[in-house]
Amino acid sequence: MTQILKNYINGKWVDSNRPDYLDVINPADGQIIAKVPAGSKSDVLDAASAANQAWAAWRNTPAVQRIQYLFKMKQILEENSDEIAGICTKECGKTISESKGEIVRAVENIEVACGIPKLLQGDFSEDIAKGVDEYYIRQPLGTGASVSPFNFPVMIPFWFMPYAIACGNTYIVKPSEKVPATMSRIFELLEEVNLPAGVLNMVHGGKETVDAILEHPLIPAISFVGSTNVAKYIYQTGVAYGKRVQAQGGAKNPVVVMPDADMDAAVRIIADSAFGCAGQRCLAASTVIIVGENPEEFTSSMISLARSRKTGNGLLPEVEMGPVISKESKGRIENLIQKGVEDGAELLLDGRNIKISGCENGNFIGPTILGNVKSDSELHHTEIFGPVLTIISAGSLDEAIRLINQGRYGNSACIFTRSGAAARKFRHETLAGNIGINIGIAAPMAFFPFSGWKESFFGDLHGQSLHAVEFYTQTKVVIERWHDEWTRKF
Ligand code: NAD
Repeated sequence: MTQILKNYINGKWVDSNRPDYLDVINPADGQIIAKVPAGSKSDVLDAASAANQAWAAWRNTPAVQRIQYLFKMKQILEENSDEIAGICTKECGKTISESKGEIVRAVENIEVACGIPKLLQGDFSEDIAKGVDEYYIRQPLGTGASVSPFNFPVMIPFWFMPYAIACGNTYIVKPSEKVPATMSRIFELLEEVNLPAGVLNMVHGGKETVDAILEHPLIPAISFVGSTNVAKYIYQTGVAYGKRVQAQGGAKNPVVVMPDADMDAAVRIIADSAFGCAGQRCLAASTVIIVGENPEEFTSSMISLARSRKTGNGLLPEVEMGPVISKESKGRIENLIQKGVEDGAELLLDGRNIKISGCENGNFIGPTILGNVKSDSELHHTEIFGPVLTIISAGSLDEAIRLINQGRYGNSACIFTRSGAAARKFRHETLAGNIGINIGIAAPMAFFPFSGWKESFFGDLHGQSLHAVEFYTQTKVVIERWHDEWTRKF
């Protein structure tokens, strides 16, 4: 029987106030695996009011006690990793090992948030004037909310939520309506944590739900991750309502391969970056810029490695690459490939029309590589978000950096080289917030901020680490003078 998903509000599973549902579809076989509420404004009103009522007691619970719940949360995710990964793969399409990988990333964020008693500390200056002291403390904001994309159903809400609640806020999670079953199961498992009712809530839905979050006066802070156009809309609308917003957007990540790079390692690492998660990672290598006159060595090795990648249903252990999320996504990616060819790119490996036995209704595209891509073509500038790698040449590192810096996105940029000087120049001059040096996915650990730039990020403070703590707290400065009991003077 198809599972009908519910919202989780005030410690209870409740039906959405609007009886409309969307299908949740397994991208590997086209089967409907669940129905998710289309969402409504009144669901958000209920969640915000429950979260706000819970806040008074939660903010007064000492941080050392709040983190005891997080220790349990970590344990529950780890103990149930196999089951969670299975659901994630079923609705999102990635392989089981990729699903398990994102659970590890979620857990790492919980671990960092467990350090909140230290991270939350303020600062103190004695005697700013005779007998006068000044200090600041960090206090929570109230109720926060996260709105997340389809490609990391487990990890992304954990870039924000553990920090927010550890800091003393209450919280509302809004999963992607394309992959809501994973977080629903996680919430069921997290009931064992016994958080006070209303501290952690979940509402489902799409634009109407998100707009209600943006407008609600009792939700002062919003963390968003998704495509750039929506990120910009969320940022502008949230800020217009006077809220704090951190909005991570789309990406188009370039990788520079210098002539002195270790070619075998570069090809292997870049192939994993480009085709892992079927290219649906915001840090996936999308464009390789080959510096020098001999791109063939790289290109021919990349084609044979990409061709050998086993594509299929991510639930099977031998599969290395799953489907893309939806029929629309597959159609969009195939059209972009076609447009690239019409604009003069050379189709070196064509993953369209791939057939996967037993998964005829799946949204599969095999690894695809296009060479000679023009720097002014649509393919070069558009986020593809699929298993497609484009290759472009540059005469020098300067030219490669210029090409990168002309782009609209700045999520990450990587370089493969044996030269410390080239790497340093690249790190210094490239306009991107996450830099990889002989690394294919420059994904910051939980104790660093996820530092997108340009149109990959709207806001000031990023997700994860101290940035998340600062985002979910406000500073209060106190200046105080006490009667001097020893001298009896002020
Ligand atoms: P999306 O923008 O379509 O959806 C993201 C979220 O926004 C969903 O929860 C959705 O319900 C909501 N939403 C969609 N349209 C909306 C609208 N008009 N108004 C209000 N809310 C709306 O993104 P997606 O397709 O789920 O995810 C893929 C995108 O996310 C890619 O562009 C990818 O680069 C990006 N992404 C970025 C990062 C990062 O860290 N920068 C990480 C992961 C994914």
